[in-house]
Amino acid sequence: MKYKGYKDQILTVDLSRGEIGRRSLDEAMVEKYIGGRGLAARILYDEIKAGAEPYSPDNRLLFITGPAAGTLVPTSARFAVGAKSPLTGTLSVGYAGGHLAPVLKYAGYDGILFKGKSPKPVYLVIDDGRVEIREAGHLWGKDTFETEEALKKELKGDFEIASIGQAGEKGVSYASIASEQHLVGRGGEGAVMGWMNLKAVAVRGTGGVRMGVDGRAGIEACFELHDTIRKNPVKAAFRDVGTTGMLIPVNDIKGQPTRNFQQTYFPAASEVSSDRMKPWFIRFESCSGCPVACGSVTRFRVEGAEIVTERIEHQSVGAFATNCGVSDLARVFQAHDLCDRFGMDTISTGVSIAFAMECFENGILTRGDCDGLELRFGNGEVLKPMVEKIARKEGIGGLLARGVRAAARELGRGSERYAMHVKGLEMPGYDPRAFFGMALNLATTSRGADHNKAFTIAAEFLGVLGDFDRFAYEGKPKLVKDMQDSTVIIDSIIMCMFTVDLGISVDLYARAVNLATGMDIGARDVYTIGERVNNLERMFNIREGVGGTEDGLPDRFAREPGSDPDGHTVDVSKMLPEYYALRGWDEKGVPTPERLRELGIEP
Ligand code: SF4
Repeated sequence: MKYKGYKDQILTVDLSRGEIGRRSLDEAMVEKYIGGRGLAARILYDEIKAGAEPYSPDNRLLFITGPAAGTLVPTSARFAVGAKSPLTGTLSVGYAGGHLAPVLKYAGYDGILFKGKSPKPVYLVIDDGRVEIREAGHLWGKDTFETEEALKKELKGDFEIASIGQAGEKGVSYASIASEQHLVGRGGEGAVMGWMNLKAVAVRGTGGVRMGVDGRAGIEACFELHDTIRKNPVKAAFRDVGTTGMLIPVNDIKGQPTRNFQQTYFPAASEVSSDRMKPWFIRFESCSGCPVACGSVTRFRVEGAEIVTERIEHQSVGAFATNCGVSDLARVFQAHDLCDRFGMDTISTGVSIAFAMECFENGILTRGDCDGLELRFGNGEVLKPMVEKIARKEGIGGLLARGVRAAARELGRGSERYAMHVKGLEMPGYDPRAFFGMALNLATTSRGADHNKAFTIAAEFLGVLGDFDRFAYEGKPKLVKDMQDSTVIIDSIIMCMFTVDLGISVDLYARAVNLATGMDIGARDVYTIGERVNNLERMFNIREGVGGTEDGLPDRFAREPGSDPDGHTVDVSKMLPEYYALRGWDEKGVPTPERLRELGIEP
């Protein structure tokens, strides 16, 4: 491998046979796909058989890093985990920070590819070159906090851990994988890990990573990137309150999903705002090598108990507070904390509860169906028992643990109209009626309703990436395509998504790749690589029967105005033909053979 930044080794683990192997990375492959999300798309497309059941030996679980992990490139201590999602049936790759990614590189690996199912619970230990599968019966049933603590004691060393909680063990379709309260969430990668009987991965590495630009020049260039972030005016606010600072401004412009997306304004927003949270912060923590340090550790009391946990993000406030109509901040924090412990995605959990609340208020679910709970909007007392029921798949929780799409299909009786999802993935906390670019992004991303695949809010509201009329259809297909393509490089280096708002431009992302690897790419290459990865993900989904007919939003957004006095609704079908044309896809949203050839994709 002529490129630096890589260890040129993927660990392969066959859990059915208990076999451990190693394979090299392909130089041409890293030129085309870089790392992280790009490599995950390529490797999983090749590894997972068409039509594979998510819970079967035909699926795979890939932990993957980017070439910058372990270097001085800022915010690059991130890893990704990909699989065919049990929630959506699409390819799903999630990301988390913390310290695991650099340590995996220092141990000598770019990633770990799991297949098969262990006959009993196990965990994987990587201690530099020594790799072992160990029995994990004593860890099964523990939550993610308890598992990390137990393993750190047991291994008596400086190991970084990624683990699942009870939600992954039980097969909750949106179960996550946690590492120091950084969760790989959304697509149910934790449930795939649970099906494999893999409780945790523990890694210690003592080596290093060579950068493409070595010595003093490389160090100085990385420090310039750090300075760009450090001097950005947004940094202080980010460090202070993270994404929760978005709640009041987004609510004020009637863009905050409320009561299961029925409204877009939450009257009690000030009760769950960042100002209310601030007195609870006790210290700030950082992912490895990040000048922002946005992880505020929080102490609060609820039901007579004191809880210390990481600060909630805007998305969790949207899911548990505004979408469930709950203004009791301690109960919202408690629900978020429980999700982290059980290992469960907060957006999908909160939106599933909000779905059940709307069903309850419309007589589709009764108190009897809900294990005696009064599942009404605004009733914060039900959040804790509902999160517990979902994580354990008990009673009503068993239905909601499958996600709103599957739950509505089972319930019937018109409940489908309350299921807020795209391609099976629950909707995040930016209302599409208030941001037409975000509407198109949510409708078209390969993973389902993922706001981070093109954070158009930066262009449509924050004015960080241009100044777009948020209610205009014109210009949005190009904006969304460009942002979806450039985001791929962030997910592939892998850097933190928050850098989009912190002054890191497409040119600087290209520079980060070059610094880490020694490649020589520019902004045009960033877009080409991004387009290639988006097309390959599309081809994966089409192979699984998820094509253009799934590029849409729930009907509510086209028919029912939110709280905005001008009554805006959004019709994504007005933007899709131009979006498909820009992508070189046919009218059904299928990439043409010519476009695939131009991008060098051999599906
Ligand atoms: S900005 Fe926050 S989440 Fe992102 S890398 Fe830094 S500390 Fe981690």
